[in-house]
Amino acid sequence: MQLIFLGPPGAGKGTMATRVADDHDIPHISTGDIFRYNINNKTALGLQVKSILDSGELVPDGLTIDLVRDRLGQEDCSKGFILDGFPRTIAQAEALESFSDIRCVLNFSLSDEIIVDRLSGRRVHKSSGRTYHVLHNPPKVSGKDDVTGEELIVRSDDQVDSVRKRLSVYYEQTAPLKEFYQNKGILHEVDATPPPDEVYESIKTILAET
Ligand code: ADP
Ligand code: AMP
Repeated sequence: MQLIFLGPPGAGKGTMATRVADDHDIPHISTGDIFRYNINNKTALGLQVKSILDSGELVPDGLTIDLVRDRLGQEDCSKGFILDGFPRTIAQAEALESFSDIRCVLNFSLSDEIIVDRLSGRRVHKSSGRTYHVLHNPPKVSGKDDVTGEELIVRSDDQVDSVRKRLSVYYEQTAPLKEFYQNKGILHEVDATPPPDEVYESIKTILAET
């Protein structure tokens, strides 16, 4: 099962990918998480991409494509995988064709107003990437990770200016991928507006039918 979760930032792709990946025992591969892991650990890649992530721009295609090609070549991807946040450009989607066999793309859609609400309330446990929302998916203890009890943070790119930039980058560079996959007949629409359990049920229905 090779899946792409496509959609704007804050649509709930990561939240749903975690659940679906657990159900099917396949890895959830988020390029954003990989970049943030490298930034947190101050690797050469992390130092190279930190200012790009903070600005809300995209990391260059060549670098991102090489990273994903390597990751998909690892043993744990042999049964399948969920790509979350990749591809984000037509060039990435075209490159992906040469090293994958994607037959199902889920496109998460929701209004800009809800996107801004989700991103402004998002809280993250830095080392694990576990994600909460202050209202819609709160941790058991306010401001603390459920598993470790450690502090939750606001992602630096969830600040208002970065969010605006990320949305405009999404509409310019990533939204055209909908047509790319529609033309291949493998795009499935997911209304990402309802509460998490409802979105999850609609994804399960799509996956059972494909
Ligand atoms: P993405 O991976 O698409 O950027 P996330 O999965 O991180 O989005 O979700 C963004 C925020 O919205 C998080 O704070 C998350 O807890 C919350 N969230 C995710 N899905 C829903 C939903 N269906 N309803 C309300 N809030 C949601
Ligand atoms: P995300 O966690 O998916 O919201 O991604 C956070 C940031 O990581 C983006 O704003 C980009 O700067 C970078 N990024 C993640 N995935 C990609 C990608 N496929 N191509 C280029 N940049 C990416």
